[in-house]
Amino acid sequence: MIKSKNEIIEGLGLDTLNINEHEDNNFEVYKYFEGEFEKLISTNAELYGIEPVIFYIDNSTTCNAFATKRNGYNIMGITKGYPILIGNKFKKDFFDSLIFAAFLNNESVSDGFASLYKNENFSFSKFMLDCSIHFTFHHEFRHLLQFNVIKDKTDNHLTENCFERPFDLKKHILEYDADKSAANKVVLYAASILRKFGFRTDGEFLALIYCALGSLFITRVLFNYGLVGQWQEPLKPNPMEFYTKKNWHPHPAIRALNLLDSFNVFISDGYPHLKIESQKLITNSMGITKLYLDKLLPNVDTAGLIFGDMFSEIEKSNEYNNYLHNEALSDPIIQQLIDKSL
Ligand SMILES: [Zn+2]
Repeated sequence: MIKSKNEIIEGLGLDTLNINEHEDNNFEVYKYFEGEFEKLISTNAELYGIEPVIFYIDNSTTCNAFATKRNGYNIMGITKGYPILIGNKFKKDFFDSLIFAAFLNNESVSDGFASLYKNENFSFSKFMLDCSIHFTFHHEFRHLLQFNVIKDKTDNHLTENCFERPFDLKKHILEYDADKSAANKVVLYAASILRKFGFRTDGEFLALIYCALGSLFITRVLFNYGLVGQWQEPLKPNPMEFYTKKNWHPHPAIRALNLLDSFNVFISDGYPHLKIESQKLITNSMGITKLYLDKLLPNVDTAGLIFGDMFSEIEKSNEYNNYLHNEALSDPIIQQLIDKSL
C-alpha cells in the first residue's frame, strides 16, 4: 500500500511546521518557500528517478537545510529559521544599490544591468532570493542522489550547519560535489530567466550571472558566519579560522572558491560566446556581495572578514579544492553519479 506524505511524516515522527497556523507576516514567506521547493521537487524527482521526495519545513528556529534517507524514504527539508531569516535579509532596499555594480564593467555589461533594472517585471531582490533557493534545493537534492547510489540500506543524513566536528573526508567530498552540482544548476536557472524575460544580450546574461554568484556568496556568508541565526540588530559575524582537514564541511573560503571555479568552468564550456573572464566574474560578484554586506553590516570590515581568508589563503584553498576534486573523481559514489551522467 502506498502511504501518503502525511502518513510517512507521521510514521517517521518528524517535527513539521504547520504553516496554516501562522496568520502573521511569516505565513506568506513560509508559503513562498514551500511552493518553490515543491515545484523544484516535482520537476526534478521524476527526472532523476528518485520519487517520491518528501519535503517539509522543520519546526526549529535554527537556520538549516538538510537531506535524509530514512527507512528508504527520500526526505528534504529546511528549518523555519531559513525562510524567515533569509527572506528578511533579501529585502528590496539592499539591492537598490546593485546598479552601481555596473560601474565596474564595460559598456555592454553596464547596459545589461540598466536593461534589467528598467524592466518592470524583473526584480533584483526576487532574482537573488530565487538563486539562493535554487542553490539550497539543488545542493540538498544532490545529497539525495548521492545517498541513492549507496547500495546498503543504512540511513543517511547531512545538514548544512557548520558546527565543530571531527574531520570526515567523505563528508568533505560529498559537500564539494553538492556545491559544484548546485552552482551549475544556478547558472542554468539564470539562463532560464534570461529567456523568460525576453532578455537577449550577452551583457544582460553576464549581469544575471554576476548577481547569481553574488547571491550564492551572500547566502554562504549569512549561513557560515552565523548571521542568519541572529534576529536582533546590530548583527555580529562570528569569525572562523581558516582550516583544511577539519570538521564536516570545508572552510567557507574554500567553498566560495569552489563556487567561483564551478561557475567559470560551466559557463566557459556551456556558453563559450560569453567569453567569461575569471577576474571579472570575481570582481563583480564580490563587488555585489560587498555592496550588500556594507549595507547589512555598516560597522564591520566585511571585505576583510569575507574575502580576507579567500585571498590570504588562496593557494591553500586552491590546493585543497584540487585535492577534493581528485578524491571525488576516485570516490565510488561520485563515480557512479558521473557514470549515470548525473
Ligand atoms: Zn551539504
